[in-house]
Amino acid sequence: MENIVNGKLFKNVMQSLNHAAELINCDPNVLVRLQHPRRSMVFSVPVRMDDGTVKVFPGYRVQYSATLGPFKGGIRYHQDVNLSEVAGLAALMTFKTSLLNLPLGGAKGGVRVNPGELSRNEKQSLTRRFTTELGPFIGPHEDIPAPDMGTDPQTMAWMMDTYSQQKGFAQPGVVTGKPVDIGGSLGRNSSTGHGVVYVAEKSCEVMSMDFTKSTMAVQGFGNVGQHACDLAHQKGCKVVAVSDVSGGIHSGEGLDIPALLEYVKENKVVKGFPGADPITNEELLELAVDVLAPCALDGVINEKNMENVKAKIIVEGANGPTTMEAGNFLSEKGVMIVPDILANGGGVIVSYFEWVQDVQNYYWDAEAVEHNMQKTITKAFNKVHKFASEEKVDTRSAAMAVSIQHLEKAMLLRGLYPR
Ligand code: NAD
Repeated sequence: MENIVNGKLFKNVMQSLNHAAELINCDPNVLVRLQHPRRSMVFSVPVRMDDGTVKVFPGYRVQYSATLGPFKGGIRYHQDVNLSEVAGLAALMTFKTSLLNLPLGGAKGGVRVNPGELSRNEKQSLTRRFTTELGPFIGPHEDIPAPDMGTDPQTMAWMMDTYSQQKGFAQPGVVTGKPVDIGGSLGRNSSTGHGVVYVAEKSCEVMSMDFTKSTMAVQGFGNVGQHACDLAHQKGCKVVAVSDVSGGIHSGEGLDIPALLEYVKENKVVKGFPGADPITNEELLELAVDVLAPCALDGVINEKNMENVKAKIIVEGANGPTTMEAGNFLSEKGVMIVPDILANGGGVIVSYFEWVQDVQNYYWDAEAVEHNMQKTITKAFNKVHKFASEEKVDTRSAAMAVSIQHLEKAMLLRGLYPR
């Protein structure tokens, strides 16, 4: 456990777990179990590089909890991946699936590698060997990986193929986030961004604001940010600023999102979009908007800038964009912060639908996926809002408390094995 508990992310997650446990007066025997991952694995992943040499990359999979169903969580390829970070993310997945009432547990995995330095062949070899090492521990009813930073639908296709080759027949249910042609779900790509908007709409409603007449700023114009802006714009919300790694753009009139999406397809970044003023990522976070959606990095709203944040609602599209300290400060000030485990839940909800479709061999149309995703995320939002209002706590704490309450009930019902 020493390696696990020392990381910043893991410590943060445990801090919010302990706070929520206090709120619901959680059974201490349950809490102590929730503070420990069920299984943490470290693998050596040897890869023959294009120049003929062999390199060995460290790989990880932390299976945090399977109380509610098979383990579920993404695979990250990044040069900073380590066991503690993976464990923290696996814990977050556990709390997310519980809050969303999905019959899934929580896990996360990763390889410490800079994916930008790998050729396509090297990335494929790494993925296939990592999947082989993971083989005895994953499966449609055991543990279902998905994409995360540095991995994509193609990576999932290689994982699915490797696992299937070893079983001898197609096993689409072993991973989610696959391309549609091999059992992926319609609507998976847009699910996280659309979920962010459904949650923003509900947040406006409970704050007696009208989302269709609101202003919004979005940090990050990747998968989550683009789909969030697209749907928000369609609903009439004025998206006044967006940013990415190149910087940001601002227009008080509201940005022409369809034109911006076209622009980014061609130019890759938002910088230089005609008719908008340049703005820095830092300035974007401090704009006086109704809704701020950080959809890029963790820790961007922190003790350094929290006093300058003017948004009324923060919807966490990214994982962990608001530090604990900034979150407490802003909640005190009356800012509504919808935490990541709820706000970016659209992705895992549709991953769950993908898995259901795969194991049933029965595929849904895009409308059914979208409708059911909205229904599931809204239900979770309502539960969190009810808890926050009744217990007079902030939305972040309420989300964690609702999640822990569900896990506590399930753990007590199942009991400790052997006793
Ligand atoms: P992405 O790689 O598609 O996009 C990331 C965006 O962030 C890009 O526009 C990039 O330019 C921008 N960015 C990178 N560095 C930046 C910086 N220093 N300052 C400002 N912007 C920067 O990733 P994504 O899939 O959109 O994921 C974004 C966040 O949402 C991550 O935290 C991810 O873990 C989280 N998330 C994603 C999903 C999903 O389904 N894609 C689900 C849950 C959570």
